[in-house]
Amino acid sequence: MENTVLVVEDNEINRELLVAILEDTYHVLEADNGKKALEILRKLKNEVSAVITDLVMPEMDGYQFLEEYSSSPELSTIPVIVSTSQSDSESEVKCLEYGAWDFIKKPYNAQIIRFRVKNVIERSELYALRKLRYQEQFDELTGIYIKNMFIQQTKKMLMENPDTDFMLLHFDIYQFQIYNSVFGMREGDNLLRHIADMLKRLAKKEKCATYCHIEADAYCVCMPAAGQEILQKMMDDFQKDFRIYQRDYDIRGNMGVFYIEDKTVTIDSMIDHAKLASKECKGNYIQNYYIYTKEMAESLQEAQSLANDMERAMKEEQFVLYLQPKYGLTSSELEGAEILTRWQTPDGMISPGKFIPVFEKNGQIMKLDYYIWEQSCKLIRSWLDRGFEPYPVSVNISRVSMYNPRVAEEIYELTQKYDIPLKLFQLELTESAYTDNPGAIKKAMQRLREYGFTILMDDFGSGYSSLNVLKDITVDVLKLDMKFMASSGSENQKRSESIVANVVHLAKDLHLPVIAEGVEEIEQVKFLNSVGCEYGQGYYFAKPMPVAEYEKLAFNL
Ligand code: C2E
Ligand code: CA
Ligand code: CA
Repeated sequence: MENTVLVVEDNEINRELLVAILEDTYHVLEADNGKKALEILRKLKNEVSAVITDLVMPEMDGYQFLEEYSSSPELSTIPVIVSTSQSDSESEVKCLEYGAWDFIKKPYNAQIIRFRVKNVIERSELYALRKLRYQEQFDELTGIYIKNMFIQQTKKMLMENPDTDFMLLHFDIYQFQIYNSVFGMREGDNLLRHIADMLKRLAKKEKCATYCHIEADAYCVCMPAAGQEILQKMMDDFQKDFRIYQRDYDIRGNMGVFYIEDKTVTIDSMIDHAKLASKECKGNYIQNYYIYTKEMAESLQEAQSLANDMERAMKEEQFVLYLQPKYGLTSSELEGAEILTRWQTPDGMISPGKFIPVFEKNGQIMKLDYYIWEQSCKLIRSWLDRGFEPYPVSVNISRVSMYNPRVAEEIYELTQKYDIPLKLFQLELTESAYTDNPGAIKKAMQRLREYGFTILMDDFGSGYSSLNVLKDITVDVLKLDMKFMASSGSENQKRSESIVANVVHLAKDLHLPVIAEGVEEIEQVKFLNSVGCEYGQGYYFAKPMPVAEYEKLAFNL
């Protein structure tokens, strides 16, 4: 391949001299000032291998040309040789600062010029090649291996040490994006480099180890297997290091450990396993590393298959409504019901405790919630059309659905579509939704109340700031879950009872009715009655039941 050299020189005689020297070996382009040279370079940047430029020229001189050239990333990789008439070290320094690669002196020496041009071209290729090779192996930010290289080197290490047991570690920072937004990207990058250094030091202590920067804030290390005590010490050391590195922020490392039993498993899947284990930490202070177990993979698979099956199940109407009656505690009369979803597959029932958390994680819950609300509206409509006088039912709104800015409108539109009196369609919202996202929830709740919906605060008392929530938002009913209370006969029973009694009193002061849910025993009913709690729901009264069964109960069929 013939290389192209651009000669930039206003003096015609000099230019022709240079062309004559170079044209046997190169394809030579000419320009008589810096401006024209830049035009040519911008057009032909991928073809020009080197530039020789004069300094003193009309329109745009050599300095200006160098300045423009070096500030343009697409041009600055092309080597530039400056031709100077006298040795003037000050102007040479200036040229070097602007990225000049070399100099030639007037009068021209053909041999020296050919050598220098050849050299810069070779150097620039070598440099580009080396940079490319570096990028293929190392992460630019941290200077340690990238994933591909890690996989290659780890494979080799495992094969070369057949008698050593190894483990693969996946390490990352809990909520790194928060650190980034608090301290800025630049400091975020510093932390990432710091972690790379930490892991480098860790690996250096081993007789053999590999490590890499996987992506974002994730790293992997493969080293001889160590027991729990050493793993714990390792994490403790990291935490100590983090506290010294950053006093103003609680950096928390999370680690997943995969003990390599079968060395023929792909490194990629080892990484996945370690990563899965690290997910268990979720920022936990006490346990900041987890060892991979088969169950972790099984529950992931289960979650994935639930997520995969959801759409089809919805089309096939496998999600069905169950109703759990609510009773007046003094009257023992039916007062309403909560709608609870059941997933009826051909192979049996899946409990919401299994699929709701999965759908909340992947967002599918929004679709399911809407579906259940619509089914519930249809159900009430059918009761009205059949001439019954239904009790109110309550539906659950997932915290995730509350992120939908149109949630209030969508629910209202559904009730209008089926012409449902709003007092028959109550909404249960879990207290912890509020602590997740107070701003948005507050707005959505306000709009729901403006439409005229009755809002029940579900699982009241389960969060950390139940009383704060009450101060901030208005609800119509509190649901107090008995499962958050100590079991009867236990040491803490007295304390829980006094808490329940006080919550009920507080609710009374705020004119809020209370529904106790999860009521299982007659003793609980008696106690709740004695403290003035109005309503109860739980296995003591009735379990959630299919629609037909509830209709029998509610309408004396
Ligand atoms: P939740 O809203 O707190 O519903 C009450 C749960 O307690 C129900 O469990 C109910 O069957 C159970 N329960 C009722 N009485 C008793 C009792 O006396 N003892 C005990 N141990 N448990 C009792 P379920 O139906 O398994 O639902 C679990 C959770 O799943 C619900 O908790 C709710 O958060 C969610 N969920 C259920 N259906 C839906 C739905 O359609 N949409 C949304 N977003 N969430 C739902
Ligand atoms: Ca509920
Ligand atoms: Ca509840």
